Amino acid sequence: MKYYILFGPPGAGKGTQAGAISKKYNLKHISTGEMLRAEIAAGTELGRQAKELIDAGNLVPDSVVEGMIENTFNSNKDVAGFLLDGFPRTVGQAADLDQMLALRGEKVNAVISIMIKDQTIIERIQHRAEIEGRADDANVETIKNRIATYHKQTEPLITYYKNAGKYHEIDGECGDIEAVRKEMLRVFRGIDKLLERQVVIDNALLDNVQMLAHESPRLRMNYDLRNSEDDQSQRMLNVMLPGTKTAIHRHNYSTETIMLLRGQMDTVFYNDKGVEKERIHMGGDTGVLGVNIPKGQWHTFEVIDLSIIFMAQDGPWSPLSKENML
Ligand code: AMP
Repeated sequence: MKYYILFGPPGAGKGTQAGAISKKYNLKHISTGEMLRAEIAAGTELGRQAKELIDAGNLVPDSVVEGMIENTFNSNKDVAGFLLDGFPRTVGQAADLDQMLALRGEKVNAVISIMIKDQTIIERIQHRAEIEGRADDANVETIKNRIATYHKQTEPLITYYKNAGKYHEIDGECGDIEAVRKEMLRVFRGIDKLLERQVVIDNALLDNVQMLAHESPRLRMNYDLRNSEDDQSQRMLNVMLPGTKTAIHRHNYSTETIMLLRGQMDTVFYNDKGVEKERIHMGGDTGVLGVNIPKGQWHTFEVIDLSIIFMAQDGPWSPLSKENML
């Protein structure tokens, strides 16, 4: 499970932006403010107790919000993760969250903060009051107290998460809602890659994949460079040790591009009868860095020295059918 925190002062646009992000990444959006408003609307005892505090712009007790958070974690097992909005709101709540997650063998993955100026907070909240009719948006004194509560109790979380190396900030006033959304998606993509350690393709990564290939009975190892199964392309690193056997095969739906990152190998083309018609030496002092294997071209690889290639092809991976192997 991934645990992301959407951070920012009241009115920064957290709720507005949460929808697109949670949908794209299959995250359960948890807004403690919304949950509390639902309790008030349903007239529950919890709602009755929370209303007074919320209307005054104060925080409700930790035990109340933490109970709601834990229940939501427990009742959502089918999501990729959670997008927390409005929680944690104090360093105490952040520490409790860390503890709650540690007990589940999990941790906060990243904090995405949307920042706006105090004056913008007031303008945005007053505008929202006209649209959504939230009681705590309508009164200027309540708004001012919420801003004060934010600075005093919530803002210290920035340092807390910066120290943990999890803090990512975007400018909530960089443009309209769409512009902020684009910026958020850009930050999310970066975080996602970072979490998967795919942002840089360097020698350390090649060394790791190479080590896994040595341990594999197939003498080869693929390293998927896509960030999600929804990505309908094939982009991977492929380590092949000498002795790797690849059947003569063809891809009828896409050209295959191969770039050699390490080693020496041949790409061999065949005609329909399995007779070799062209051999392309790659690596060493050949000056050949890669090949484009045309759609439908029968081919195989012969590994001379341990080789690592980058391979790209259109369309999702599927096992080769009989008619595509010689
Ligand atoms: P929000 O919709 O996030 O602006 O929250 C509205 C109000 O709900 C806040 O002003 C608080 O009174 C209360 N609230 C929401 N989340 C929390 C939390 N994590 N801790 C304490 N109070 C909260």
